Amino acid sequence: MSVVLGDVIHPDQTCGIPGRKITDSLVLIRDTICYARDRNIRLIVLNLDFEKAFDRVSHQYLFRVLQKMGFPERYLEWVGLLYRDISSKFMVNGQLTKAVDLHCGVRQGCPLSALLYVTCIEPLAQVLRRDKWITGVGIPGSGGEHAKCFLYMDDINILCTDLSSLDRALNLTDDYGLASGSKLNRGKTQALFYGPWAETDKTGLPLTINTTDIKILGVKFDREGEGTKNWPDVLGKVRQRLGYWGLRGLTMEGKVLIIKAEREPVSPVRGLAIGEPTTVWRNVNHPALPNRLRDLSWMTAHEILPVRSVMHSRGMGANPTCPRQGCGAHETVRHVLWECTAAGDQWAMAGSLQFPYLPAGEVLTAQLVLYGVSPKKVPPALFQKQWLTLSAIKDAIWTSRNLLVRKRMLIPPVAVIRMAAATLKVVVAAGGRPRTQPQRSLASVPIRTWEPEPHN
Ligand SMILES: [Zn+2]
Repeated sequence: MSVVLGDVIHPDQTCGIPGRKITDSLVLIRDTICYARDRNIRLIVLNLDFEKAFDRVSHQYLFRVLQKMGFPERYLEWVGLLYRDISSKFMVNGQLTKAVDLHCGVRQGCPLSALLYVTCIEPLAQVLRRDKWITGVGIPGSGGEHAKCFLYMDDINILCTDLSSLDRALNLTDDYGLASGSKLNRGKTQALFYGPWAETDKTGLPLTINTTDIKILGVKFDREGEGTKNWPDVLGKVRQRLGYWGLRGLTMEGKVLIIKAEREPVSPVRGLAIGEPTTVWRNVNHPALPNRLRDLSWMTAHEILPVRSVMHSRGMGANPTCPRQGCGAHETVRHVLWECTAAGDQWAMAGSLQFPYLPAGEVLTAQLVLYGVSPKKVPPALFQKQWLTLSAIKDAIWTSRNLLVRKRMLIPPVAVIRMAAATLKVVVAAGGRPRTQPQRSLASVPIRTWEPEPHN
C-alpha cells in the first residue's frame, strides 16, 4: 500500500509515505510564518484536534474511501479480513464481557493502520485544499500555489488569512465528521494570530486562541515564527536526567544512551509470559541491590547497556561485533552477559567456586540471569540473595568486558569471579544499607595485556 499511496495522497500529508518527512511540513509552516511576518500580512495558524482520532474511524467510510481511491477489489478483501465482522471483549475485574461488534477504529499496533488512517483523512484535506472560501498564503514564484493545509497523520494545520476561512474550515471539518465518524474537539483546537489583527477579531471564536506560541507537530512556534522556546524544555530534561545519572560515573557513550532512551521508547524484554514483566521491573529496582547493580539491571532490562550492537544501531559505533578475540558474534546485552563463550566460562567458574546462593547450573537460564525470571517459585528471602549474587557476577563480567575494550586487559574467568565475590562481600557487609556503593576491586591474579585493537 505504501508503494502506491504517494500517487493518491497529496504531498501536504507527510506521514507514512516513503520519501516524505515531518520536517517538510515544519519547514513550510515556519517559512510561511516568517514570510507573513516580514510583510506584515495577516495570518492565522490553525491546529485541528480530533477526539480519539484513530478509534472513531468508521469502517464503512474506510472501505468507501479505499474503493473510491481505486484500490482493487482483491485488496479490499484482504483489508476486509482484518476489519469485517470483528468483535472485542473487555476485561472487567478479571472477567471477560460478551463479545461486542466493532464498526469503527483502526487497529492499534498494526503497521497497516497508519496508512489506512492517512487514506481516511485525505478526503477532508482535499475539501479544505480546494475550498475557494479558505484563503491560504500565496507562495511567491509558484504560479499560483497556496500554502494552506499541512498534515501529519491526524495532525491537521491550516494556514489562512481571514476569519471567514477559519469558520469555513471548522464547518467543513464538522461535515467530514458526519461522514467519517471523526469528531473535532473544538476546546483543544487552537489558533495563533500573526500580523495586524484587532483584539476584537480574536474574541468569541469557538476555539482556543493562543497568545504566545502554538505547538505544531510537537514543535513550538512563537509569535516571531522562531523555535527557540523548544530548547529550554529539552535542555531541562537532559540536565535533570544527567544530574540523576551523573553520580554513577557514566562514560560519554553511556550519557548519550541515557538521553536517547529518554527521547524514544525503550525496548521491552521479549519472550516473557503474562505477569513476568512486573517481576522484571521489580527486580530491576530490587531493594537488595546497591545503586551500581541497580543501574546495571536497569540498563540490561532496557537493552541499553552500551554494548557494541546497541551503540552500532544508534550510529555511535563502527562495529557491532563482540570484542572477544575469535568470537565474531554481534555483541548484544544478552551476548556479553550470557551467550558469549567468555561469559560461559565465567558462569562455569562461578559455579565451581560455589557461591552459596548461586542457583544450580540446570536452573541457570538467560531469563533468570538477565531479568531474575524463572518458572521455579523461590521464596523472596532466598531470591534476594540469589539476585544479588547474579547481579554481582554480571557486574564483574561487564567490568571485565570494559577493561578489555578500554584498557586491553584480558581478565581470566577466575579473577572475574573473585571480583564478583569481593563486590558481594562489600554489599553483604553493608547489609541493610543498600544505597552504599560497593568498591570495585581486582583480585590479585595476573592480568595479561591483550594486543591493541583498532578503536571501536
Ligand atoms: Zn562474544
